[in-house]
Amino acid sequence: MPHRIITIDGPAGAGKTTVSTLLAQDLGCIRVDTGALYRGVAYEIMQQDIAWENDAVLKRFLSTLDLQFHLEKEGLRLFSSGKDITDQIRTSRITMLASAASAKPDVRSALLALQRGIAGQQDAVFEGRDMGTVVFPDAAVKFFLFADLSVRARRRYDETQDENKDFSRVMAEMAKRDTDDTQRAQAPLKPAPDAIHIDASFLTPRQVVDKMRTYL
Ligand code: C5P
Repeated sequence: MPHRIITIDGPAGAGKTTVSTLLAQDLGCIRVDTGALYRGVAYEIMQQDIAWENDAVLKRFLSTLDLQFHLEKEGLRLFSSGKDITDQIRTSRITMLASAASAKPDVRSALLALQRGIAGQQDAVFEGRDMGTVVFPDAAVKFFLFADLSVRARRRYDETQDENKDFSRVMAEMAKRDTDDTQRAQAPLKPAPDAIHIDASFLTPRQVVDKMRTYL
């Protein structure tokens, strides 16, 4: 029997991470944060100082990339060439670089097979930007989670690891990412035609998950 895949797409800060974690716990399956893979690409670009805007250089770099999720007690951890980088991919530099590099078709196709490979092995809740539209068009149930920009920026500000963080900068960067993610040619952020839309601006994560479960 094929595995049951549930997708949650939406802009940054809509609460996808918290909601997908709770939903996966309720359903007893894994949760896959696909944004972490794009962040992993950005992490390695920075570490290796890759001139990624050059397509030939990017292709060569991607052929050496070795990103893997490992399932541990607290959930999936991201490894790059055997090194756990889960806790190092949440800085704002990596965030902006992940968004820029994710517009490259070669980056997207390198990560596509990886994502589908995970889905072939078990039931999962996948969160990202193009889960319902591109990666899993046949998912069992698709959600599109959104919230007001100011609410999303406040959440991201509260969780960012940067020492000299600044709310107005977080909000400006998020607005830029919204524009970049929705307007790029490759797999732009948009709801799948059959996605269920949920506005999380005034709901707690538990309320969002309870609402989702009414559709399962
Ligand atoms: O979800 P997160 O904020 O960690 O994602 C970082 C960036 O990775 C996003 O701004 C987006 O550009 C990109 N991304 C993507 N497709 C996904 C997940 C993330 O393009 N499925």
